[in-house]
Amino acid sequence: MEKQRTIFDHRPEVAKQRAADKDLTRCEQWERFHKGNPEVFAECVRFARIALERGWRNVGFALVWERMRWSRLETNSGSGFKLNNNFQGRFARIVMRQNPDLVGVFSLRRLHFDCEPSCRVCREYGFREDQRAILGVAI
Ligand SMILES: [Zn+2]
Repeated sequence: MEKQRTIFDHRPEVAKQRAADKDLTRCEQWERFHKGNPEVFAECVRFARIALERGWRNVGFALVWERMRWSRLETNSGSGFKLNNNFQGRFARIVMRQNPDLVGVFSLRRLHFDCEPSCRVCREYGFREDQRAILGVAI
């Protein structure tokens, strides 16, 4: 039987990332991406500072994410699809957690957890703690 073609067939780096992430939780996928692409976090912080300087508060993180996609497509410095939308909430949180001057720049929505309550990534980056503290959500 012929293998079904997908829109990622011509994007081998995306297909590779998807295959590697198949059995990981969202937290683990995010952490793998974060550690493998440290420039993404740096760029998130840079855009957050620009937003702050312009007096923007409570900005949807998608604005930054799409801006980064645009830039990557324009300069051919990687596929825009590599920036998985599932990673946005975790990046928004660590940008503000690791840079107290940036707290409040991004609006936060409830994170989707498919990991165990004892998840190491959640503990290390404070994701579940933030969910309680910032959103007042019992988890
Ligand atoms: Zn987790």
